[in-house]
Amino acid sequence: MNIKKKITSLKDELIELRRDFHKHPELGFKEYRTAEIVANYLEKCGLKVKRGIARTGVVALLEGNAPGPTLLLRADMDALPIQEENEVPYKSVNNGVMHACGHDAHTAMLLVAAKILSNYKEKIKGNIKFVFQPNEEVGGAKVMVEEGVLENPLVDAAMALHLWTPIESGKIGVTAGPITATLDVFNLKIKGKGGHTGYPENAVDPIIAAANIIQTIQTIQTREISALKPTIIMFTKIKSGVKSNIIPDTVNLGGTIRYFYKEGVKDEEKINKRFERIVEAICRAYRTKYKLKFYNENQSVINNLNMTKLVITIGEELLGNGDKIIPYVSTAGEDFSEFANKVPSVFYFVGAGNIEKESHYPHHNPRFNIDEDVMLIGVEMHVRSALEFFNK
Ligand SMILES: [Zn+2]
Ligand SMILES: [Zn+2]
Repeated sequence: MNIKKKITSLKDELIELRRDFHKHPELGFKEYRTAEIVANYLEKCGLKVKRGIARTGVVALLEGNAPGPTLLLRADMDALPIQEENEVPYKSVNNGVMHACGHDAHTAMLLVAAKILSNYKEKIKGNIKFVFQPNEEVGGAKVMVEEGVLENPLVDAAMALHLWTPIESGKIGVTAGPITATLDVFNLKIKGKGGHTGYPENAVDPIIAAANIIQTIQTIQTREISALKPTIIMFTKIKSGVKSNIIPDTVNLGGTIRYFYKEGVKDEEKINKRFERIVEAICRAYRTKYKLKFYNENQSVINNLNMTKLVITIGEELLGNGDKIIPYVSTAGEDFSEFANKVPSVFYFVGAGNIEKESHYPHHNPRFNIDEDVMLIGVEMHVRSALEFFNK
């Protein structure tokens, strides 16, 4: 049986797995039920299975018939704190928790791919490490790497895909270089001195400082960084004040910074340094004090050129060339960067948007759903790109 036929023969199983995960979604680091099903399935495929990596993560090793490099294939398993609004037979039974990003399908597709690949040991000159990762939405990959997922055997390359409803079904979005954004989160507290609005001269107004900071920070992207290097700085939180005739003591601000490039090596070229320089200068001008904290949530996933070419080749064979493989970059964050930063990797988007099947809602929306037929493409991409990797 050829690969396509084999995958088609497993379509019912694939959909059943996905719908079962969908019906029983679990939040990050709490994927106990999912992990149990995953580990049992992989053991039945005859793979060496390790449980409990990064709490609920599962890793399975497929050893080929000849020695060679180790390829890591990754799926994420976590759901989101969202109340599902879809009326489907497999609607979430867990109140306030929903698979609204497609990770249910990612898990199902990689399981079926593992089952098929375990029958091709003679074509695998090396090993495949199947990684089922917890908590993608809040950095589970980092914990997996810290707990040694890239070692024993040492991983040489990695691949992952994301079903993506903004891309129509039957297309794949990928590009070499940065494909998802670096995501930094900031919190800024501006401290003035509260007082009477009739006597502003006796107070230090933190609101006017905050207003200036919000405006001036935008010049980082328009005046300090090339227009060819997209940078999004968003203030999303402002909290201050209790009454209209009181000058408040403090303003609390927060937001995110997203960008797609490696920052300059010099300290002053780093976005957080530019940000603080403006905050410091404006706070000094307005006699306020400040506290500023940054933390990095995701690094940009930077696709390796050869690994990207491999995915494009297989994608074109599968979907036909022409306009099926589109250049694509997403402003979303993705913690697959924890793997991609360490070994040559590729991360790509498999279109899952189809208005007739009502799978056109955005990710993280309570009506989010996928075009399940696309899962066959996902499995075939996993299987054939893995085999091609060992063929090269
Ligand atoms: Zn998501
Ligand atoms: Zn996701």
